[in-house]
Amino acid sequence: MARAGGNEFELPHRMKAWVLGGPGELSLIEKPVPEPDKAEVLVRVDAIAVCATDIEIIEMGLPALVDGGPPFNRNFTPGHEYMGTVVKLGATVDEVEIGHRVAVEVHAGCGRCARCREGMYTSCLNYGYAKKGHRANGFTTDGGFAEYAVNHINTLVHVPDEMSDAEATLIVTAGTAMYGLDAMGGIVAGEGVVVIGPGPIGLMGVGIAKSLGADPVILTGTRERRLEMGRKLGADAVVNVGREDAVEAVKRITKGKGVEYVLECSGAPNALNEAARMVNRGGRICLAAFPSNPVPVDLAYLVRNNIYVFGIRGEGKSATHRAASLLKQKRFDAKMIHTHTFPLAEVPTAIRYARERIDDAIKVVVQTRNA
Ligand SMILES: [Zn+2]
Ligand SMILES: [Zn+2]
Repeated sequence: MARAGGNEFELPHRMKAWVLGGPGELSLIEKPVPEPDKAEVLVRVDAIAVCATDIEIIEMGLPALVDGGPPFNRNFTPGHEYMGTVVKLGATVDEVEIGHRVAVEVHAGCGRCARCREGMYTSCLNYGYAKKGHRANGFTTDGGFAEYAVNHINTLVHVPDEMSDAEATLIVTAGTAMYGLDAMGGIVAGEGVVVIGPGPIGLMGVGIAKSLGADPVILTGTRERRLEMGRKLGADAVVNVGREDAVEAVKRITKGKGVEYVLECSGAPNALNEAARMVNRGGRICLAAFPSNPVPVDLAYLVRNNIYVFGIRGEGKSATHRAASLLKQKRFDAKMIHTHTFPLAEVPTAIRYARERIDDAIKVVVQTRNA
């Protein structure tokens, strides 16, 4: 395949990057622009969204997660929901060209373990083992709160010309919701789906379930504005659980039938028990969020009713590519959840907006380019 004629991008030797210190400590430093190795590319980060997981990692501080523990990368850069422009190709790369716009998946599996070979690279058995080829940018390897980042070609998702940088940062979020539906069996046309929790993944889950023909799609949550957004993204019904019992509401809406699938995105302690009572016998539940402490679960109810429970980690099985296609086809307006934008110099402010939901922030995007 022909390469773009030489290097069109003037690449500096050093770049601005945010690095993590102790718990909650972020500083903006200059560090070397990384070099792409075989099957990798250098991405100029153009935009990056703040994710709840970034906030957890930053609050834990070093050496949590990084490179699987010490000896760790002392100049670790967090951030994983980014997109940008390919500016340099590593050896053997002919799958993309310089100048292509890409969104990036978080996980590059080792490619050699049993899970990677099944497409479950977010559950790579060599997680954190960078020498075996595993990368989880923003988790175990450097992420995107910087001007440049290195990505394995397997993590690249093509961004169509007409899609904005900010919207492209939502591809991985949408891909995570898509992976949840995949895990449950994925055939949702004509079947009922409840999404619990109108956070970014839940809201994208509504859009994706509706795009795939689910009927009805029901969203439950507490914040009226987000429920309204869910309606615009395709929910047939929304339930404010502050006003009505979620299980009763689902029974009412489905005329006692219940639904086939629940995508749990709230992490509420009783969510699994409630989900079990929303699905009908033989129904399926996918947990995309979880409470931080152990919680009681009515196992007898799950077993007696032959209910399947799945857990997902991130965005496996190339679900991002399918999600990106739905966004490209404008099946739902993902941009709606992008509420705030900040320049690279203001990453701590962006994180504060996301963490404290200032001004009802949902997705806060850091626009790196021209920042
Ligand atoms: Zn994320
Ligand atoms: Zn692997």
